[in-house]
Amino acid sequence: MVRLTILATAIGLASFNVYADSQVADSVAPEATNEVVSKKAVEAEEFIVTAAHPLAVEAGYDVLKSGGSAADALVVVQTVLGLVEPQSSGLGGGGFLVYWDAKEKKLTSFDGRETAPLAARPELFQDENGKPLKFFDAVVGGRSVGTPGTVKLLETMHQKYGDKPWSELMQPGIVLANKGFEVSPRMAASIANDQERLARYPDTKEYFFTQDGEPLPEGHLLVNKAYAQTLEALAKGGSEPFYSGQIAKDIVAKVTSVEDNPGVLAMEDFATYKILERDVVCSAYHQYDVCGMGPPSSGALTVGQILGISSHFDLAKLGADNPTSWQIIGDASRLAFADRGRYMADTDFVPMPEGLLDSEYLKQRASLIEEGKALTEVSAGEPPWSIKMAMADDESIELPSTTHIVIVDGEGNIISMTSTIENGFGSRVMSNGFLLNNELTDFSFAAHKDGYPIANRVEPGKRPRSSMAPTIVMKEGEPYMAVGSPGGSRIIGYVTKTLIAHIDWGMPIQQAIEMPNMLNRFGAYDIEAGTDAEKFKAPLEEMGFKVNVRDLNSGLHGVVFSDGKMIGGADSRREGIVLGD
Ligand code: GLU
Repeated sequence: MVRLTILATAIGLASFNVYADSQVADSVAPEATNEVVSKKAVEAEEFIVTAAHPLAVEAGYDVLKSGGSAADALVVVQTVLGLVEPQSSGLGGGGFLVYWDAKEKKLTSFDGRETAPLAARPELFQDENGKPLKFFDAVVGGRSVGTPGTVKLLETMHQKYGDKPWSELMQPGIVLANKGFEVSPRMAASIANDQERLARYPDTKEYFFTQDGEPLPEGHLLVNKAYAQTLEALAKGGSEPFYSGQIAKDIVAKVTSVEDNPGVLAMEDFATYKILERDVVCSAYHQYDVCGMGPPSSGALTVGQILGISSHFDLAKLGADNPTSWQIIGDASRLAFADRGRYMADTDFVPMPEGLLDSEYLKQRASLIEEGKALTEVSAGEPPWSIKMAMADDESIELPSTTHIVIVDGEGNIISMTSTIENGFGSRVMSNGFLLNNELTDFSFAAHKDGYPIANRVEPGKRPRSSMAPTIVMKEGEPYMAVGSPGGSRIIGYVTKTLIAHIDWGMPIQQAIEMPNMLNRFGAYDIEAGTDAEKFKAPLEEMGFKVNVRDLNSGLHGVVFSDGKMIGGADSRREGIVLGD
């Protein structure tokens, strides 16, 4: 693996103050929202599963009901989701997973993130003059496709924690792909919204449009023989056909032959791809430990910073209905996002300050916040760091798609997994019945700024920084809550909101999920349109924020463990359900 070594330069980091809204495209989510119908929490005592599509949840429920483990159920839920919610996740993508091993009483995490091809260079997303490409010019085609991790992640989980035969777990997906499934309202709306890009490549067009050239309507029976064949191959050969056999060859051929925007993925990338088990990153919040995925995801670190900074204010007393609570959370988020932009990336490639969650450091960051008045200036801080090198703020662009799955089995093992192909419909390139990811556009398109390196620049073999925040909250050494969401870099705000609503404001899980989304990443406050939260627009503007009222399409799924019961919640903004016994 090639590794770019950068000389550490000790300079005053505070001299950078180039953090601005313009760093991240603030476009409307390309994934459509469905009609919002409020959902009820589901209670269970033995096992529970929640995910973004009823067919996937039902298939997972059947596995758990027949004594399967959480890992067994995951294989089924993910292979079915890849078919029925293809815009969000699938075999062509990657993900992060936090796992509670009930027997060992141990929390761990698995990194199934896509990697940059070994032939990728920092200029991957720049034109011949070194100017960053426009987002969709980079996304659509082969260029943005990273080595997929999902299949190997499923296999790893199954080998470590599975009970049922792997081949059996492929069957629900095979049956559904062969017999067909009804296109859901949200999938139909997503296709309709993305027609132009989906029509760019013949195979993709053929799959997502009717013979008359219309985008597939809701209720259309969609058969996917190629997907069934892929699952048959996995059933027989495990991940081997995917990483060194015909499927890898097909993907490589596809990616490199996209005429208008080819990529550099090669067989070597598949052959060297690894799932990495990593230590979870935990931060103390009141009497809880909020644990999640460390680098290359920025999820747990940024959620942890927001909570750590906010904990210096009495949010419980201020209450959910108080604009000052939201000002504090919003400013804490802006401070955390400034650190995220400068320091967080794949730490197998770039050094990162050790002290991003240091309590003294977060206290000092909290002291910048003044109750009732928005910060006028926000820049990255100087967390404790033994190396201390100068870095420029990053220029990554992220647009939301993705899906979140929570599964608890009869033994008490827990999976909290966020799974993605990045943008809605990923790269729009299809191979073997599934869409290929565009995860590489989670890298910063620029590699440096004003002569300083950007931590999240493209490097061969590196994993792009993520915002995915699959979370398990611990209380007195036992799991208390599992939660996560899609939503690009807004994932961090969605998850944080749900945690604060439940922990500080005492809302039951379903209510915490349903509470209108409000979040702040880079200065402007996002408030969910059409909700009661619009009342905060004027007071937040008075405090000095720029406010955007907009669609905030989270897809939160979560489970709370309380008094021997499990209470599961699913986001009404998407089509998911909860099932359990
Ligand atoms: N690719 C994004 C990430 O890893 C997730 C995309 C999304 O949630 O929509 O952070």
